Amino acid sequence: MHELGLMSGVADTVVESARQAGAERVISVHLRIGDMAEVMDEALQFAWEVLRDEDPLTKDAELEVDYVHPRSLCVSCGNEFEHDRFHLRCPACGSAETMLLSGRELDIVGIDIETPDDAPN
Ligand SMILES: [Zn+2]
Repeated sequence: MHELGLMSGVADTVVESARQAGAERVISVHLRIGDMAEVMDEALQFAWEVLRDEDPLTKDAELEVDYVHPRSLCVSCGNEFEHDRFHLRCPACGSAETMLLSGRELDIVGIDIETPDDAPN
């Protein structure tokens, strides 16, 4: 399952950043993933539920994902356009000679943490 490998890297980064920030626990993790990364949401959530238990910091952390449409550049006419993963042709001239500009990314947009300072008392 390719999602498990992806999320394993995310979990490592999250735990490391949370430790550096002095977090007591991670509340939620926000990701942005391009449609072309071919990630299945269900598999991703499942992978996260497995991985978050590996560290007490992330044990109850929620995963929030924004899926973004890929963007391509048409080599024939220079048009830049958004599309989904099945429609790669240039909408302006119909050419199939296009270059993917973005859409395979998997970025950690934000991590919500609780630090000892936040605790009441
Ligand atoms: Zn074109």
